[in-house]
Amino acid sequence: MATGTPPKRANFPARLPGAGFTPPAAGPRAAVRPGGAAVLRAAVPPLPSGAGMDSQAVRDAMVERLRALGGMEPAVLESMLRVPRHLFLEPGLAAQAYLDNALPIGHGQTISKPSVVARAASVLLQALGARPARLLEIGTGCGYQAAVLAGVAGEVYSIERIRALHELARRNLRALRLPNLRLLLGDGMLGAPGGAPFDAVISAAAGEQAPPAWLEQLRPGGVLLAPLGQPQRLTAMRKLGGGRVESWSVEDARFVPLKSGVL
Ligand code: SAH
Repeated sequence: MATGTPPKRANFPARLPGAGFTPPAAGPRAAVRPGGAAVLRAAVPPLPSGAGMDSQAVRDAMVERLRALGGMEPAVLESMLRVPRHLFLEPGLAAQAYLDNALPIGHGQTISKPSVVARAASVLLQALGARPARLLEIGTGCGYQAAVLAGVAGEVYSIERIRALHELARRNLRALRLPNLRLLLGDGMLGAPGGAPFDAVISAAAGEQAPPAWLEQLRPGGVLLAPLGQPQRLTAMRKLGGGRVESWSVEDARFVPLKSGVL
């Protein structure tokens, strides 16, 4: 493993191939129980239209600011245009939803900054060179990044260890009608074996090292992106054949800690 070396495939397509991206069909499906985790699928009532903060113009402006930062994938920005971030915050914080802020979501956790979500998803898509057919997110939190990822991946599994947040995410996501997003309650350090193999694993919580299950549950050629080490660095790993892993350090990061067990 060569930490700090750049990725071998430096010239990724400027636009990711969208063809062949087929979201799974909606409709009831047997629950998958990775490691005994409770599985939940987002329900599908219509999207409510509230007053003020759900204005598309406010979201457009946020996305334009993200685009101006450079290096963002168009598919990620398009997804962020569609996901109403204010719906993931308590009413008292909703006015700040389209600023580039990490904000509290309870239980000592935070919703990631929009720029951090955009950057991580973009790095992941660029490293893969395509949209992931099947992706695992560690750390659902309030569900915002899961919704953004559901717009760029075929199927998303998102796992959270704090039951109250898992349930909050389920409520937040219900209105968005995302049939390709599955919410799991469980210890994400064990991955989600019922959904493996994944094209990509992305963690919203920082550990010393990547838990072995994450790499085990990646398909060969799949990419893992996680904040690792102390001080934290956003780190990418590509699973190669023969048990080899190519790893590179992307940038400084500041995420909440990865913890084991279910609360
Ligand atoms: N994805 C969220 C960010 C949530 S913060 C967003 O859209 O903003 C990171 C989350 O990781 C927290 O909710 C925390 O409880 C969760 N987490 C930490 N360790 C975990 C583990 N082992 N398994 C699952 N979730 C974990």
